[in-house]
Amino acid sequence: MSLIVHKYGGTSMGSTERISNVAKRVAKWARAGHQMVVVPSAMSGETNRLLALAKELAPAKPTDAYYRELDMLAATGEQASSALLAIALQALGMESVSYAGWQVPIRTDSAYTKARIESIDDARVRADLAVGKVVIVTGFQGIDDLGHITTLGRGGSDTSAVAVAAAMMADECLIYTDVDGVYTTDPRIVPEARRLSTVSFEEMLEMASMGSKVLQIRSVEFAGKYKVKLRVLSSFTPWDIDINQEAKSGTLITFEEDENMEQAIVSGIAFSRDETKISVLGVPDKPGIAYQILGAVADANVEVDMIIQNISKDGKTDFSFTVNHSDYAKTIDLLKSQVLPKLGAMEVVGDTKICKVSIVGIGMRSHVGVASTMFRTLSEEGINIQMISTSEIKTSVVIDEKYMELAVKALHQAFKLEQAAP
Ligand code: ADP
Ligand code: ASP
Ligand code: MG
Repeated sequence: MSLIVHKYGGTSMGSTERISNVAKRVAKWARAGHQMVVVPSAMSGETNRLLALAKELAPAKPTDAYYRELDMLAATGEQASSALLAIALQALGMESVSYAGWQVPIRTDSAYTKARIESIDDARVRADLAVGKVVIVTGFQGIDDLGHITTLGRGGSDTSAVAVAAAMMADECLIYTDVDGVYTTDPRIVPEARRLSTVSFEEMLEMASMGSKVLQIRSVEFAGKYKVKLRVLSSFTPWDIDINQEAKSGTLITFEEDENMEQAIVSGIAFSRDETKISVLGVPDKPGIAYQILGAVADANVEVDMIIQNISKDGKTDFSFTVNHSDYAKTIDLLKSQVLPKLGAMEVVGDTKICKVSIVGIGMRSHVGVASTMFRTLSEEGINIQMISTSEIKTSVVIDEKYMELAVKALHQAFKLEQAAP
């Protein structure tokens, strides 16, 4: 008997009819003899609806008190979908119980709206499984040390599922979504994108961190740390397809490079509209500058992605970096009020109309000229590169947001990603 974790995304849970289909699929797995833990997202659109209600009442305020309430609010989406799924399972004659994050409990830190899971107590879930129940655990949420409800950042149900699978040492974690696996890029943007039957953990980590929303980055981190067997597959196949066929479908995230793995140099292209660029202009070019700017930003719990410091002119330099949209206003405020006066810098300017496009592939380690093909392709399209960053298996550029689709399509073609690697 295996212990299996299923995760169903918002679209897969999007109506009572779809929830009923999810229940039938889960019941099929349970009846095949598996112990089942299921982690659902809120019904599609629900998290956005709830957060929009908050905005209607008051403009977003970057305070803990406000973010705490957003979490209290947003967490209800998953609570509703989880209870509905348990009801649908019971209607099929399956014993089932749903738990909110705090009931498990899933313990997190107190970084409201982007909390991190610290520990999961699986005793309650195990006891239910032992008596044959299907256990539903709400995605996206937990509880902090003070007893406040927290959420894990948008797309966080993936992380809940993988963390539950890791804590319970599940045999496999299956992420059911509205596409049938991980593609060379978002198939909504490039229809020629190709599904990968396997993708290495390292590549998936880069793709997720560079914006590919099919898996939340922290879910991939958990999978890597605890070696969770992870697969992405479609929830829109008929629920009664052969279970063995289903179990092999989609995309498997692999930890070892095996011979059967595709040997492409570039495996995928990720993009993100979520970033914004902030520049501090006229900074005196002396030791400690990066620390004074980025230290203050980090203390405010803002993650910085790309960083550029320009060559100095007349002892002054410009310092630019990117942060997530949601941290933009807070970071600009912080720089203006605390960092500018201390540094004697001249100005802080921001640009929200940028995007980041990244090419990712393990093969980049051993092949030269990949980045130059990227730069040439963009230049042929007349696209100006504002920032560049690289790692061993990735090259990312920041460009004007209006060229995003053009860049992704041109790069997909330039690297021939629509064709399987030889
Ligand atoms: P869920 O609600 O199931 O969590 P998401 O919307 O979060 O689903 O993620 C699935 C979506 O991710 C797909 O519909 C697709 O548009 C998008 N996506 C982005 N990049 C990729 C990729 N490389 N492969 C597959 N899907 C991708
Ligand atoms: N419901 C949450 C969101 O929309 C979490 C998730 O779907 O994974 O971001
Ligand atoms: Mg998602």
